[in-house]
Amino acid sequence: MKAEIYPFVVRPLPYEYDALMPVLDETTLEFHHDKHYKTYVDNLNNILADYPELQQKSLQELLTQLEELPMAARVGIRNNGGGVYNHELYFDAMKSPAGQEPVGDLAEAINRDFGSYKQWQEQMKQAAVSKFGSGWAWLLSDKAGKLSIVQTANQDVPDFLEYTPIFLVDVWEHAYYLQYQNRRADYVDGWFSLINWRKAQKRYEERSL
Ligand code: MN
Repeated sequence: MKAEIYPFVVRPLPYEYDALMPVLDETTLEFHHDKHYKTYVDNLNNILADYPELQQKSLQELLTQLEELPMAARVGIRNNGGGVYNHELYFDAMKSPAGQEPVGDLAEAINRDFGSYKQWQEQMKQAAVSKFGSGWAWLLSDKAGKLSIVQTANQDVPDFLEYTPIFLVDVWEHAYYLQYQNRRADYVDGWFSLINWRKAQKRYEERSL
């Protein structure tokens, strides 16, 4: 993702609100993007408005340097900056369900590091379904191209100095509750068909740039 700085803007979805149906219906996606994600953008800008010295920093820089941020801004930037980063990648990493498969080096790396696509899918689903409370499940690559699955809580992000995010799945209830109620596993099952593998492969290739 190209580096943005303050004031952060709400990125439009790279598809129509109904493009991810039937996995994610229009209402679910519209609330998620136009309300939840937008709130993180607005909150982050409101915080940064009081800290001109932070306004030239990219989101990744802010989230990598949390310990160095002013105490009064730290938690707000962690939660809202993470909320912006995570949602932008989440929305960008999906496309219309089209029965895609992993492609290129990434497909090979999935087989190498997890045994098979099927085994990777089981582990990814387990990470998403078992995340207690609100958070995310990620597919990450280290600089050497080794893949791993991790969970983060709330709007926390992985260590960007070590890992490149390939994609992630939002398991906050707001991501699926309107459509799936408590059936998180059904939402996660559907999400697999929304993964934009072409973009995932691009992120994988760019990991060391
Ligand atoms: Mn969300």
